[in-house]
Order: sequence, then C-alpha cells, then structure tokens
Amino acid sequence: MKHLLNDSSLWREAAFINGEWLSGTPHGRYAVRNPADQSVLVELPRCREPEVESAIQAAHEAFRAWRATTARHRGDVLRRWYDLIVANKEDLAILITLEEGKPLAEARGEIDYAASFVRWFSEEATRVRGDLIPGARAGQRIVTLREPIGVCAAITPWNFPAAMITRKAGPALAAGCTMVVKPASQTPLTALALAELAQRAGVPAGAFSVVTGNDTRSIGGVLTSHPLVRKLTFTGSTEVGRVLLGQAAETIKKCSMELGGNAPFIVFDDADLDAAADGIVAAKFRNTGQACISANRVLVQANVYDDIARRVVDRVAALRIGNGLEPGVQVGPLVDAAAVGKVEEHVSDALNKGATLLHGGRRLPLGDGFYEPTVLANVTPEMRIAHEETFGPVAALFRFETDDEAVAMANDTEYGLAAYLYSRDAERIWRNAEGIEAGMVGINCGLISNEVAPFGGVKQSGLGREGSHLGIDEFTEVKYLCWDGLASP
Ligand code: NAP
Repeated sequence: MKHLLNDSSLWREAAFINGEWLSGTPHGRYAVRNPADQSVLVELPRCREPEVESAIQAAHEAFRAWRATTARHRGDVLRRWYDLIVANKEDLAILITLEEGKPLAEARGEIDYAASFVRWFSEEATRVRGDLIPGARAGQRIVTLREPIGVCAAITPWNFPAAMITRKAGPALAAGCTMVVKPASQTPLTALALAELAQRAGVPAGAFSVVTGNDTRSIGGVLTSHPLVRKLTFTGSTEVGRVLLGQAAETIKKCSMELGGNAPFIVFDDADLDAAADGIVAAKFRNTGQACISANRVLVQANVYDDIARRVVDRVAALRIGNGLEPGVQVGPLVDAAAVGKVEEHVSDALNKGATLLHGGRRLPLGDGFYEPTVLANVTPEMRIAHEETFGPVAALFRFETDDEAVAMANDTEYGLAAYLYSRDAERIWRNAEGIEAGMVGINCGLISNEVAPFGGVKQSGLGREGSHLGIDEFTEVKYLCWDGLASP
C-alpha cells in the first residue's frame, strides 16, 4: 500500500524514539490491518517497558533545551509542521483511510482539522502570559509565570488518528513541553507520518516520540506511573480513562481526559426540519458513527416526529457505502468485528424491546466491517442504546412532548460531552442550552469541532479542554514569585 503515497518516506514501519527510527525490538512485531478488508497493511515493532522508558528519558533530556527556546521559535517550528502537514495532505488522508476506514473525503477533512490545531497553537505559543498582582503588603510585588509542565504522555484513540494527536502535541510543544505519544495500536501509521513531518519541521530529537505496539497495558503502565512524566493527556473511552486516572494518581500527574459521550440531538417543533435532518445525518453518520460527539440519541418533539423520521430515512437511504478509497463513498466500514458486533447487539436489543426498524438493520456483504446505516423509531430509555455509546451507524429516534421532558431525557446519562438542539426560538434555545449538562452544545448545527473553540466534556465525559485559547493551559503550571522588601512608589 506504500505505493499509494506520493512521498513513500511517509510510510514508516518503525517506532520513532529520540529522533531515530527503531525498526525492531526484542518483543517481535504486530500486524496493523485495513478495516475495509482485514488485509495486513504492515507489521510494526512491539514496544514494551524498555522502549517506553527510553522515549521518556529522551523527552526529559529534550525538555531542558526546548523549554529554553523562545516562544517565537517554537511557534515558527509548529508553523513549518503545519505547512508540511498541509503540503502532504493527500498522503496523510490515504494513511487514515487505509488504517481507520473513513472515506477519503472525510480523511482529508480530518487532516485539515488536525493541521488547524498546529497552526492555532503556533500562534498561541507567543501568547502564554503571566500576571503582575498588587502585593498583599507594602513593599511586595507578586508576579505569576506560566511554565511548561514537562514531559507529557499522550494516549490516543483510533477514530481520529491525526487530529487527536495534534490537538495535544500542538499545545504541548507550543508551551515548551515534550511528548511521548502512544497512538491506538490499530492506527499508528498516521502518527508515524506526523512524526516524520515534525522532524522535518525542526522539532528536536526526543521532543516528540511515537511508541508502537499492542502491549497496551505495558506501554500504558509505564506512561502513567513514570515519575518523569508530569502530565497525562488521554482521549478514549470513559472505562479506560477511569483506569488511567487511577494509575496516574500514584504519582499525582496532571491529567486531561477526553472521554466517551452519549450525545442527545434535540429537535423542537419550531425547528427548520430540513436543516435538522441534515444535522442528524452529519452528526450521526460521520466516521460511520464512530465519534465521541456522535448523536447517540435523537430526541424529537411528538408533533414533528413522523416528519423528521421520513426526512432522515430519505437522506440515509441515499448514502453511499463502501471502501473509503473508492470515489463518492460516504460511509466506510466500522473499525473491526467487535464494533460491528456491538452495533448488532444494540439494534437487536432495541427491536426486542419494541423499537421499529425504519431503515437498514443488517450487515452488508461488502466485508466483515460493513453495517448498513440504520434508522430506528420508537426508541425508549429502557433500551441499551439509550445509555451506552453505540459507536456505529444507527440513528435512534426517541419521542418527547415538552421542553422539560427533553432536557430531562438529555441529561439522563452519566456522560456530558456534546449535545445538539434545533429550534428557531431564541428564548427557547437559551433556556434549554443552559439546562443541558454538556461541555458543548451545537445550536442549529451538527458539526461543532474546530480549533478555536474549547472541546471537552463534563460529568464522566472528561476533565479539561482542548483547542481554543484554553487548550495550552493544560500544559502549563502557574508559578508565583513573591518579591518582598521593595520600595513603595
Ligand atoms: P479506548 O479503548 O479507550 O482506547 C483509547 C486508547 O487507550 C488507545 O490508544 C488504547 O490502546 C489505549 N488503552 C486502552 N486500554 C489501555 C490501558 N489499560 N492502558 C493504557 N492505554 C490503554 O478507546 P477507543 O476504542 O480507541 O476510542 C473510542 C472511545 O474514545 C470512545 O469512547 C469515544 O467516545 C472516545 N473518544 C473521545 C473523544 C473526546 O475528545 N472526548 C474523541 C475521540 C474518541 P490500544 O489501541 O493499544 O488498545
């Protein structure tokens, strides 16, 4: 598959540690597969404790010099990384489609999104500021500094193989931190290509390493317990986030957690129904439903329920499904057989408990990972789909009568990542948006992710924010200097 790339040096079959490509370890290799046909794309070295240890030591060494560079210098390096990502967009998008499965058009969109964080934080690097606070006593001055926290460990998921790395590495490097990344074992190729481009951009050896392998607990164990790692930034499931937080507690690491979601998508009866149906399809079927901010529960007011159901089914029936590399494909495979199994279980559980199948509801004979985009009506809170992330292409339509009922249903989950609401009444929008327990609310829009806004959740969806002017704070510590004995003016 390397032959599909314009620049074959972006196809890497080695881990990247301390600025060097490590093509083998004593622990053997593991296979990375293409979700579209389960073929083996590449076999990569399995890193374990010793390799992770050396990546952390290298990051520790690199930190001294990197933090001492000017913010302008770090911004310039990041800007070059951004330019290189954009210049190599097509190759990076092909890597994403090969290892993750999403259609090429979506993969290109992910590269734009991933690059936007690098550009944004190349600009934010120069805006990390402290304060001068009036002293508590005469002759005192209080100065605050924002300092880089140190070596950061990033553990990232497979569903956005580029963006979930740049959303962390961009601010970390901008602040003067160094980073060791453990990408998802299913999607390391994009991470390695990003490392190659970072090196070309001038990110120094050791400042950005990528450890490969599927000895997940061993790699994660070192990253979460090593005393030199001062910060853990994780994106993935709530279940794993909980475990990692526990492990990081031993050495009191600063932690940010971007975890799972169970987003409600509320359509009120005064909404523009076509816009709402477009939003449902965008928020539900992007990446075959495998996004943390996917609309897991579509809540529709009773008097427009049938209209919305019809509009959604019309749109879903027109979606083109297939191998993401084929032109025009809009929905790709799920990431693996277990993901298809979970979707099947959710659909059959809902049907057994009284839901109505409006469209889809079966595997497709295109390969093991393909499941037909599905629309279910009459879904109720007793069904699994109401409480668990389906992470697949199933739009589940719930019915509500009043605004209060909609907000209560929306909040009936331990998650609080994204929510969506569609209405044309400003007062109604404000009241309900403020009543919803979520870190992000899309109002009359189904696509809410961008680099300028703070991304993150409340409740069991996470801790901290990524992107925006807040994102860099997660990688800094405040130090205050108390100067005494100074003359008063
Ligand atoms: P996951 O199973 O939690 O895995 C995420 C990462 O954690 C992978 O790199 C995985 O490694 C690693 N991991 C798993 N168990 C570990 C352990 N015991 N120690 C150390 N590392 C461990 O999640 P996923 O299936 O990749 O991603 C889907 C989940 O991510 C969904 O819940 C989704 O909502 C969430 N997500 C959240 C956001 C957000 O911003 N809030 C964004 C995207 C996705 P291996 O690959 O080696 O197993």
